[in-house]
Amino acid sequence: MKEIQLEFKIKIYQSLEELPLSSQNLILKAREAAQRAYAPYSGYRVGAAVLLGNGEVVTGNNQENAAYPSGLCAERTAMFYASSRFPGETMCSIAVSTISNSALSGKFAKPCGSCRQVIAEYEDLSGIPIVIILDGSSAITVVNGIDTLLPFRFKKEDMGK
Ligand SMILES: [Zn+2]
Repeated sequence: MKEIQLEFKIKIYQSLEELPLSSQNLILKAREAAQRAYAPYSGYRVGAAVLLGNGEVVTGNNQENAAYPSGLCAERTAMFYASSRFPGETMCSIAVSTISNSALSGKFAKPCGSCRQVIAEYEDLSGIPIVIILDGSSAITVVNGIDTLLPFRFKKEDMGK
């Protein structure tokens, strides 16, 4: 038996102003998108903003439905929209922001497992680590690449593709 310890680094910023301007802009766009979320059932509003290699920023937010599984998270809404509008374009970074009961929720936004898998796919297509910016009221957490959030992820190579 062999035991291996995995390590990863995250950056934690105490305020928006500490981040590079492009990241600040992306977070503000994610916050704006969260305001427009359709979340009548959970009241948990999430916004996401994706910065593309061509400089475009594409946003999305969570879309709920009375038939719960029919809804979609903000991160996937934004990334699918980005891919449908600009197919093949590099995705450089994604910011995710949450609002609960109109106040920026504490801690920080955390993508669900399905969204992490989708981020991973677009990261593979982009060929560079996607910078993932997780907004929160007391801190902003930044990770460089999806492997930090989804180690041992499923890849198309696992299917022999
Ligand atoms: Zn999700």
